[in-house]
Amino acid sequence: MNNFEDIISGKICPYCNCETELVSSKEIYGPDSTYGSNHYRCKKNPDHYVGTYKNSTPPNKSLGRLADKELREWKMKGHGEFDPLHKAPNPHFENSKSAYQWLSKEMNIEINYTHFGMFTIEQCQQAIALCQQLKKNQNTKNSTSE
Ligand SMILES: [Zn+2]
Repeated sequence: MNNFEDIISGKICPYCNCETELVSSKEIYGPDSTYGSNHYRCKKNPDHYVGTYKNSTPPNKSLGRLADKELREWKMKGHGEFDPLHKAPNPHFENSKSAYQWLSKEMNIEINYTHFGMFTIEQCQQAIALCQQLKKNQNTKNSTSE
């Protein structure tokens, strides 16, 4: 039952190795939540959950593996380092696709599995280090060319 595809599709909880259930975001964030998309939540521990893509085909496609509080924080840190690489004001990559292709190659992970939602804590940390290194190299380049 515990295989990689089941984990990254949100079908089973990688911490408890148990089944998950689909719940509304209001059950995760409270009745005032306007987040909109559903979440897969662990049947044993309500602190293990992951969101789904809005308007996906088929519906309720998981963003990745279920996360606990610690992994959620690492995923946020990861996006915090990675997203500016392909976003204004000074993007290093033309678009998110080329940024993910770079990350995929650097981490030696298939592009389909190169997503923070699918990463473990160790992979988030690896991605963060790569992003920081890239920025550092870029800064060195900029300062020597001035
Ligand atoms: Zn769990």
